[in-house]
Amino acid sequence: MSQRRLAHEIREAYEALSPMIESYTSSLCPGCKQVCCIDRHGTHEQADLEFIRLLDSDAIPVEPPLFDDKKPCRYLGERGCVLVRWQRPYRCTWYFCEPLLERMRQADSRMYRRVLEALQRLGLLRGSMIGV
Ligand code: SF4
Ligand code: SF4
Repeated sequence: MSQRRLAHEIREAYEALSPMIESYTSSLCPGCKQVCCIDRHGTHEQADLEFIRLLDSDAIPVEPPLFDDKKPCRYLGERGCVLVRWQRPYRCTWYFCEPLLERMRQADSRMYRRVLEALQRLGLLRGSMIGV
């Protein structure tokens, strides 16, 4: 499979996964007192940028890092991250705080399994793209 085709499959995997994660975060995160989105986590890795470039060069995030990387992330808006999930650093999709994990485990178990499967698929596709 070409790198470009693989990148499109990865975006589709993000798009399938995102509403499932947001079904948990939309009610949990607005009340959070210790938001995980600090600027240190908002810097894209080279592999993130190459993936985005394969899809659409205009969509590459260009904001420079903040001087203090413990401040709220440069991409954090009033209603959460302003980037769609596939544009975010890969690590952002893999961070699950303990309350979020708890909520996922306690909710519909079929949904939880679907989230785990979707994450696994995303990880495999990403591994194929970067050659690990
Ligand atoms: S994922 Fe967890 S730590 Fe991050 S904003 Fe939501 S509730 Fe807070
Ligand atoms: S999810 Fe968005 S706002 Fe949060 S750390 Fe990642 S890029 Fe920044």
